[in-house]
Amino acid sequence: MKSIFAKILIALPVILIFYVSIRIAFYSFPVYNVQPSPSKRPDGTYHYKGAIHLHTNFSHDGVGTVPELLLAASKAELNFVIVTDHNNLNVKEYEGYKQGVLLIAGMEISTPYGHFLAFDTDENLKETEKTDYFFKRIKQKGGFSVIAHPTSPTNPWTDKKNLDYDGIEILTLKTYLENSFRPPFVKGIISTLFSPVNFRWSMLNLITYPKKEIDFLSDALATHPVFITCGSDAHGKPSYDKVIDFCLTHIITDTPLTNDYATDKKIIFSAIRNGSLYIANDFIANADSFYAYMDFNPADNTRSLKIGIRDFPYKDHLKINVYAMDKKIYSQRGNSAVVKGISSGHLRAEVMIDVPSVFFGSNEILWIMALIL
Ligand SMILES: [Zn+2]
Ligand SMILES: [Zn+2]
Repeated sequence: MKSIFAKILIALPVILIFYVSIRIAFYSFPVYNVQPSPSKRPDGTYHYKGAIHLHTNFSHDGVGTVPELLLAASKAELNFVIVTDHNNLNVKEYEGYKQGVLLIAGMEISTPYGHFLAFDTDENLKETEKTDYFFKRIKQKGGFSVIAHPTSPTNPWTDKKNLDYDGIEILTLKTYLENSFRPPFVKGIISTLFSPVNFRWSMLNLITYPKKEIDFLSDALATHPVFITCGSDAHGKPSYDKVIDFCLTHIITDTPLTNDYATDKKIIFSAIRNGSLYIANDFIANADSFYAYMDFNPADNTRSLKIGIRDFPYKDHLKINVYAMDKKIYSQRGNSAVVKGISSGHLRAEVMIDVPSVFFGSNEILWIMALIL
């Protein structure tokens, strides 16, 4: 006859797995319910958000259709999507406003050094046309380039010499997925097991702090100004509606969008080029009301930064970190901050958010990131 201790020993893991499964099954998204903000902000600027790295079945490895993508974008209340199919601009025939969403054609170009996103250009670089000067070529044609998933295990960016790119993608679901399926595989296995139970939770479980991407960014900023972007890199499977708001690019503009496709495309590209943007994991909480302003104080040649998330009801669940040239100069809990006495150089701000753990307590996760040059 088994002793009572043996029975408890067998029962404990079963109870624990049951408890965690229930917690995961009932884990709801967004984690924090925050109302979306109107496009016009209190300071007179305008805010719009979009997903800017996505594929359709015009990509060799894409399975989703344009209508499926638009439906998901519309449900997620995105203002724009920039479709970046591999090495082709076939999606261009769909450009324009559909279902309230502006669809814009971009491209993801494969090079011997990794992948990059080409925006605001009709230049269709074929495999044979690839040279070390692709960034310059895109620039000559009026466009701009963003290094895609620079530290992904399968397609990292390896060329350190060609610096004519304009932006760096800091977060992609692709990189998180690939990282989690490397030794010790724990996150990958847990996310796979629980994805049928709660797909969004399995996505949340993959997120780690993007240390390598930030190191890549720091190296780049030491040579030339760049902006940051992020994206789901969705391919239609899992379906767009599950992943489209994984990481969104929020732009701030001086003029409102007009509903005229050609005009609005220019406004959106201009905001991205100028780095008038921030990136956010909106599936955790709507990040519309984030702001970051720099004031210059001529008396002592310093700057001050006003930063925060307006009307965020759960301010004890946030932490604001500010880095000046990679050195942490501010780190406090709350939903707003004023950081004074900042000397020259770039600033990187991040908002960390507490998400409940499925065991006990909570985990701090990167929610919003902004680069202020
Ligand atoms: Zn890629
Ligand atoms: Zn991609």
